[in-house]
Amino acid sequence: MATYLNSLGRKSTRVCVLGSYHDYFDYVFLPDVVIGSRVIVPFGKKTRVGVVIGPGSCADPKITLKEISVVVDNFPLIPQELLDLCLWISNYYQAPLSTVLKVALPKKYRDSSEPLDLTYPLADPRGSVKQGSDDLLTEPRASASGAVSQSAEVITLNNEQSLAALSITQALGHYQSFLLYGVTGSGKTEVYFEAIAAVIKLQQQALVIVPEIGLTPILLARFKARFPNVHIGIVHSGISDKQRHLIWQQSRANQVDIILGTRSAIFTPLTNLGIVIVDEEHDLSLKQQDNLRYSARDVALMRAHKAHIPIVLGSATPSLESLYNAERGKHHILYLHSKALTDDNLQYRIIDMQNHAYEHGIANVTLDIIKEHLALKQQVLVFINRRGFAPVLLCHDCGLIMDCSACDSHLTLHQHKLICHHCGKNIIKPKCCVKCASPNLVPVGIGTQRVYEYLSTVLPETKMLRIDRDQMQKKRSFETFLQQMTEGETELIVGTQMLAKGHHFPKLSLVVILDIDASLHSPDFRALEHLGQLITQVAGRAGRAQVPGQVVLQTQTPKHALLNILVQQGYSALVKALLVLRQEAILPPFAYLTLIRAEHKVLAKPMALLQIIKNFLAEQGLYVLGPAPAPLARKAGMQRLQILVKSNDRNRMNLALTKLRTMLTSKRLVSNIHLSIDVDPCDLS
Ligand code: ADP
Ligand code: ZN
Ligand code: ZN
Repeated sequence: MATYLNSLGRKSTRVCVLGSYHDYFDYVFLPDVVIGSRVIVPFGKKTRVGVVIGPGSCADPKITLKEISVVVDNFPLIPQELLDLCLWISNYYQAPLSTVLKVALPKKYRDSSEPLDLTYPLADPRGSVKQGSDDLLTEPRASASGAVSQSAEVITLNNEQSLAALSITQALGHYQSFLLYGVTGSGKTEVYFEAIAAVIKLQQQALVIVPEIGLTPILLARFKARFPNVHIGIVHSGISDKQRHLIWQQSRANQVDIILGTRSAIFTPLTNLGIVIVDEEHDLSLKQQDNLRYSARDVALMRAHKAHIPIVLGSATPSLESLYNAERGKHHILYLHSKALTDDNLQYRIIDMQNHAYEHGIANVTLDIIKEHLALKQQVLVFINRRGFAPVLLCHDCGLIMDCSACDSHLTLHQHKLICHHCGKNIIKPKCCVKCASPNLVPVGIGTQRVYEYLSTVLPETKMLRIDRDQMQKKRSFETFLQQMTEGETELIVGTQMLAKGHHFPKLSLVVILDIDASLHSPDFRALEHLGQLITQVAGRAGRAQVPGQVVLQTQTPKHALLNILVQQGYSALVKALLVLRQEAILPPFAYLTLIRAEHKVLAKPMALLQIIKNFLAEQGLYVLGPAPAPLARKAGMQRLQILVKSNDRNRMNLALTKLRTMLTSKRLVSNIHLSIDVDPCDLS
């Protein structure tokens, strides 16, 4: 009889203990505790903060349930819908719930050593914003009614924009996903504004997610100008814990109308959410590549779905996934065909590097074209996706290449140093070869520094800037540089992908893209998609000036079929061609992938673990490739191995991975091997 009762289980209160690898633990049932509230619970010999995720039952009679020590909140700190979303993320991305909650919650709420804040609802959140000091953080609204008083210069939408905005506003109140496909400058942001205005009129909130690099003061200023009297909360990786906490509190208390933020803003508690917008939905920075490997775009889709509201994914170069989803009717596609302000008269030119003389990576004919545009007082952007001086330092006499001692990678030559771009290790540039003592060390290949140096020599009169991560760490900020470019003060910029999007330069008529060959021949099946997006995005910077826009691409393989499709027929045509290839190879979006990577100093350990995992998943009917060395097989002294799991059935993949995670957690197989599970991996490098 006793056994029978026990097997039914005792009623419990289920708590996600922050910092634990298990999704939850059961404690003695407390009838009054609210789901989504924090509690302090005994855990081992200490106590920890946890979040109540529901009532549960504990079937194991041997386990003595402990009592919850303190109930911290008497309200759901995490509203039910946000908690549901976190549970979905934990399950879909195979991350412990506590890892998800750690990302979702401001630091103050997760750290038990911090005095816990019970102020709710806030007396006056507007009063808590210090004048001047966090100007960037929130914009207090004049009236709390949520009424929109728009700025004087409201733009009249063109036909396509109006149609798009109408479709979106008609969908308010139920789930519908839209793909807003419009070239750079076609006025997507104006369409967002129209939809947001409608949402605010209904006294609801709007959540706008942009890529890290897209959240510029220029964009923020546009939002403020368009919505001068609404409360806009800004969330990005650069704000302090305190600021994030404040925004979270204000949002939770329904005192913010628009949240504008990067990836993690998707976790803002908004209980009256009316619309979600994800701008540049193809952008890689929307996928977190470490810790919790989630796609903010896909989480946004789920959030909108659960909240029964529309979502708009916008891009000038939508991902293959989204275009495929539009094709099969999952997203409603909305086109903006023309640029709002200028004609689309961009001209591409491919320079065959095998048949042209060049110096420091720049063909002489390219240099001539640059000179032509500068002579017309236009601006020029030279794009190279590699920082440093040169990717390789080679001994001319013995052929030795300077490599990183901790990674399977060459050291990149910078001004006076050799730096590993993977682990950060750096050494002073040697005067002579470490093997044969020859002084003939030659830099091979090009990086931003080398291109900048060369162009400064041959164009001494031109006002030039270099923009890359190294440069931005120094002195003036990215914004100052952008301002100089925007005001037309700078004539030529050499830069990395930091420049690819979001910035409007008034007199830019020429974009030069160097060294696209690595992407054309990359083993990563997404490389061509990303190159197509990059070229189209960078090219979108040109063509707003009076002079017709021109894009110059330098390559060793000018006849590359897909490159020519892109250049002659545009991005949509490239996507069509790529989709055919993906379908033939049974790759996303025609199959689902999960990348499982294991790292350890000793190769045999991750190898054995991945073998176990492979067998386990194969038994569940999944197709598993590997174990094989990761593209960078040794990083910072760690041996890196991976398996790639493939299935055409998302559910089957999810169920098998969930079983796997349970097995790994309970058997503690993973101890001291670094294991990561990346569901829907974006970057296979
Ligand atoms: P996108 O977001 O697609 O890159 P934006 O919304 O930033 O495009 O629009 C590009 C520029 O065109 C902006 O300066 C914007 O104010 C202007 N613009 C957009 N739509 C219109 C319109 N209907 N009439 C006049 N100007 C417009
Ligand atoms: Zn040598
Ligand atoms: Zn290294």
